[in-house]
Amino acid sequence: MGSHQHDHDHHLGHDHDHETSHLSPEDIRVRALESLLIDKGYVEPAALDLLIETYETKVGPHNGAKVVAKAWCDPAFKQWLLRDATAAIASMGFSGRGGEHMVVLENTPTVHNVVVCTLCSCYPWPVLGLPPVWYKSAPYRSRVVIDPRSVLAEFGCHLPQDVRIKVWDSNSELRYLVLPMRPDATEGWTEGQLAALVTRDAMIGTNIVPSPANHAGANHE
Ligand code: FE
Repeated sequence: MGSHQHDHDHHLGHDHDHETSHLSPEDIRVRALESLLIDKGYVEPAALDLLIETYETKVGPHNGAKVVAKAWCDPAFKQWLLRDATAAIASMGFSGRGGEHMVVLENTPTVHNVVVCTLCSCYPWPVLGLPPVWYKSAPYRSRVVIDPRSVLAEFGCHLPQDVRIKVWDSNSELRYLVLPMRPDATEGWTEGQLAALVTRDAMIGTNIVPSPANHAGANHE
């Protein structure tokens, strides 16, 4: 596990200074509002998750999904992504604050990667947008390190016992993106079709990308 050097003063308006210094004015307003409303007890984190999801439609995980889909379709790009994620991701136009030093973690049939920031909420904004409330919660941050398999199960992700789960601790200098395994039954799919399958949670590592064959009914209603 990496260690953080940054200050974690949690007084209102002063927490996560190392992060807010990287954010746009709009990001800072959103975060300040969120902290204020939660601390005052005016809103439920679940309601804020909705707000954040709206925000994510602009700057959110659809960016990361495009990166993943391209890696699934283009072996040379995938190798570049695994070797120098920052440059490969920037080549698609996704760069900037929170993405200065990216590392991509490839899931395989035997290794599943999951990302956390144990001390606060460091997160790869250019590819995933703002983190969900649970990512910033103390229970996730502490429990995923101790018992990742149980935490994943709570996300509905039940990995075979022989799959090794590796937990990676983000920090203000280094941010991770999980490259999920390409699901079955997607042969011949375009990058655009594939990107639509890739979820935020799969790129954090708290879930996998399910095969569309498992959702055939839902897609035709
Ligand atoms: Fe952090």
